[in-house]
Amino acid sequence: MSTTVLPGDTAPTGVKTSPETVPRLALALMAAGAAAVLTAWWHATASVVGGAGWLDGAGRITGLLAGYLAPVLLLLMARIPVLERRVGSDRLARWHALGGRYMVFLVSAHVVTIIWGYALTDGKNPFAEGVQIVFHYPAMIKGSLGTLLLFGTGIVSARAARRKMRYETWYYLHLATYLAIALAFSHQIINGADLSVQPEQTLWSAYYVLAAVTLGWYRLWMPYLHDRRHKLRVHTVVPEGPGVYSVILKGERLDELKVRPGQFFRLQFQTRDLRWVANPYSLSAAPHPNYLRFTIKSLGDHSAAVSSLRPGTKVRAEGPYGAFTEDKARSPQVLLIAAGVGITPVRALFETLPGRLTLLYRAGSDREILFRHELEDIARERGARLVYLVGSRRRHGKTFTPRGLLNLVPDLKAHDVYLCGPEAMQQAVIVALRDAGVPASRIHHESFEF
Ligand SMILES: Cc1cc2nc3c(=O)[nH]c(=O)nc-3n(C[C@H](O)[C@H](O)[C@H](O)COP(=O)(O)OP(=O)(O)OC[C@H]3O[C@@H](n4cnc5c(N)ncnc54)[C@H](O)[C@@H]3O)c2cc1C
Repeated sequence: MSTTVLPGDTAPTGVKTSPETVPRLALALMAAGAAAVLTAWWHATASVVGGAGWLDGAGRITGLLAGYLAPVLLLLMARIPVLERRVGSDRLARWHALGGRYMVFLVSAHVVTIIWGYALTDGKNPFAEGVQIVFHYPAMIKGSLGTLLLFGTGIVSARAARRKMRYETWYYLHLATYLAIALAFSHQIINGADLSVQPEQTLWSAYYVLAAVTLGWYRLWMPYLHDRRHKLRVHTVVPEGPGVYSVILKGERLDELKVRPGQFFRLQFQTRDLRWVANPYSLSAAPHPNYLRFTIKSLGDHSAAVSSLRPGTKVRAEGPYGAFTEDKARSPQVLLIAAGVGITPVRALFETLPGRLTLLYRAGSDREILFRHELEDIARERGARLVYLVGSRRRHGKTFTPRGLLNLVPDLKAHDVYLCGPEAMQQAVIVALRDAGVPASRIHHESFEF
């Protein structure tokens, strides 16, 4: 372990809104939408009578809620800048995944209750009723195909299945949900009892159109304009450590990107094999008016191919995204914790965050320490404290415990903490920080997984 300690510098100033304001507003808006949907059902329902009536009511409610949720799930992934910056991509992805599970549950409940309710009314068995509904009602074939596609993406997105799959394979299969939603929409408008009346039908259609336009705007049109304006290209690829390379991108008008340290872009390198997949990578140095630097560890097809990129390769960059930035900090004292390639956004923050900084950098061996000279120069210039925690997990077993952390940083409670590293380590550090008395609102982390 080595330590560089120099005097601290200035603290952040100014009044700031709570970082939780936008996430809370977003959740309130989603809940208000669901309440509006239930109101529409209430409005269109004179009375609920008998078992068939209850089942039919449950089928309509679950169908409406599933129909409402579909655009919400797309909007969460639409890369809307305010959400990406203030809620954070990892939290949006978690909401999206959780919402996806609700969606599968709602659609399943919808199918079962509707068929069962109709079977009771018609005095048939549910299987015969199901066949009748699918093959003889208008738009039901489309609805059924949409449902099957949705269940298919639900299955490939389940954690166990996803772990066995390459990210790219999972990503392409997941795209089938767009088709599922388009098919389900026409089923909702044609078969939905609550949506055949006005103004509900127009409002419902407007909601879907708005979601589609927002998605197209942020995921297609803006990246296209962005490309034309900034003309990003690979300038150089530099080895940094075992299997780790920095890619320097140059382009035009980079200052207009308003990118902040700690943020990331989704990069699509325009080569034959890499052009269709946009992987997220954080800036590993403060943004410069003439270039952006990313540092990438090879973990699979996309990241490994980065080492052989040729200068001049065009790059499509969606972003900047991410809320792992300076404006989260409330305290003039900041603890940065990084492990492995998680050093990339932390390196950029170390360079730029105001306040008195301590950086704890965990690496398996000396060889794996990235940016050693840069970090030491920054520590010296800024009067920041830099602590390397090098060696096996066994050796550092006690470091990320409340006592271990308090030994390294005695006034830990007075710090904001920024954390980036492997998921299991992040979880352990968060628990240790909470046990050491650091409030959750002071712990900021970036996840490299979703
Ligand atoms: C916000 C964010 C910032 C990141 N910044 C960096 C960085 O600065 N440097 C760096 O080396 N890595 C970074 N990553 C991780 C990086 O995106 C993935 O490790 C990388 O894309 C691996 O992709 P692959 O296709 O080469 O590997 P694969 O073989 O497809 O996957 C290897 C592992 O990476 C995961 N993974 C693959 N693609 C993605 C993806 N698009 N999103 C999330 N997880 C994925 C897989 O689930 C798997 O666990 C970041 C991730 C996120 C979410």
